[in-house]
Amino acid sequence: MRRWQRCLVVSSLLFVGCGGAATPELQLVEDAAEAIGSLRALRETTTLVIDGQGRTYRLGQNKSPRSDLPYYEVENYRLQIDFANERWRLRQDRTSTFLTGSPLYGVRQTYGLDGDVAYDAQGEGTVRASEQIAADRWAEMYHNPVGILLLALDETSTVSNLREEEGQQVVDVAGASGTQFTLFVDGETGLPSKVMSSTYHPVLGDVAIETLFEDYAETGGLGGFQTRLTLPRGYATSLDRFRVSEYRVSTSPNGPIDDLAAPAGARSAAPATATVTVEVEEVAGGVWYLTGQSHHSVLVEFAEYLALVEAPQNEARTLAVIERVRALRPDKPLQYVINTHHHFDHSAGIRAVVSEGLTVVTHELNRSFFEDIVARQHSIVQDALARNPQPLTIETVTGDEMYELTDGRRTLQIYRIVDDAHCDGIVMVYLPRERILIEADAYSPTSREAPFAEVLLRNIEDRGLRVNTILPIHGGISELEDLESAVRTARPPAD
Ligand SMILES: [Zn+2]
Repeated sequence: MRRWQRCLVVSSLLFVGCGGAATPELQLVEDAAEAIGSLRALRETTTLVIDGQGRTYRLGQNKSPRSDLPYYEVENYRLQIDFANERWRLRQDRTSTFLTGSPLYGVRQTYGLDGDVAYDAQGEGTVRASEQIAADRWAEMYHNPVGILLLALDETSTVSNLREEEGQQVVDVAGASGTQFTLFVDGETGLPSKVMSSTYHPVLGDVAIETLFEDYAETGGLGGFQTRLTLPRGYATSLDRFRVSEYRVSTSPNGPIDDLAAPAGARSAAPATATVTVEVEEVAGGVWYLTGQSHHSVLVEFAEYLALVEAPQNEARTLAVIERVRALRPDKPLQYVINTHHHFDHSAGIRAVVSEGLTVVTHELNRSFFEDIVARQHSIVQDALARNPQPLTIETVTGDEMYELTDGRRTLQIYRIVDDAHCDGIVMVYLPRERILIEADAYSPTSREAPFAEVLLRNIEDRGLRVNTILPIHGGISELEDLESAVRTARPPAD
């Protein structure tokens, strides 16, 4: 709706005059623009360069479902935004503060958006990200006081529903694309205090993303050509109840900026989509290794039923693995899915598992996590469980006790990996007759480093397990000697 149309509609409904801003909502936006500098200075601001340092957190990778997220220390953070062309690019150097199978220090990350093209630097090149990521990155451009005020002042946007919440003035801002934002303005300073929007997360479902703007100060006017504005020196972003990033920054409005066009390779590529490849190898009679991508599963056949270890990555992969399992043994019901641990890349298929009516077996430390995951709302995208709601059926491994499935001939045992620094409620699966061990993340043969291998080996020895073959959820079929040599050559983790 054009400004003058909105003015007519609002004034006829609410008897609000049209001197100054057309609506109380726009008045709030214009006042906030004055608070950060002036309405004119804001309208003249087309680009920002934001430099700083901070932390980014690894969502879904905490040591236990309720503990703090692990994080990277970030240096050389530079976010460049070109609002007029809807382009931005972020570059940062991350150093992990947690143990990992990858290099720890100063790993550069570069990614961005150019209109509807989201791209990520990868090795020497660039790959195009999915449409969902592009939509999320488009919204991210407005989790910034300049961005959200420019969007609110755009004539194709709608600003509505002025209200007061927690002592703040609040309005809803919808861009022409329909994406909704909520802008909070501090009642005392008149400055934007936070922006919220919603998105879809495959594990958490409908989630709010909230960015707090903290510690406003006037920007420098280097060389006299930059616009002076009062902008935050602190940004803190949360997704659902999790803090996902925080930065301390300085900002240059309308300063020199790089060419932010998407690299040609990403621009000409199709958006990434979830493709699924499932390859099957029978490792022993009635034991199949289901591979094909980064996260594998293992199928074990019993006299009356089938049990699957791991439903990883996403719904699409898990449903494809289940379909393959049913094709392998069409006459036996798939009854159990054993989950190694709660990390999102290993649990993202559990809602699909529940929608299929299967029983989840995991450590008791993960029970409330899965109860929450199954209960969450998935309305922005309706996943398999939203389309076909089923109750969670769950069985759990207690403490350090063994959990066993057996039909007298085949036996499958589940043990917690005690003292694993990667995850508290992580389990390994042992087939005593076949001398096969199935484990996730404790030993991944493809990783350069093996910081958790020693603890895995000690668990195998302490339990007296007679392992010949290891089927890792990441990597390929290995022998016990491979694990032993990884332990011998493992460098001690850096502080
Ligand atoms: Zn993990």
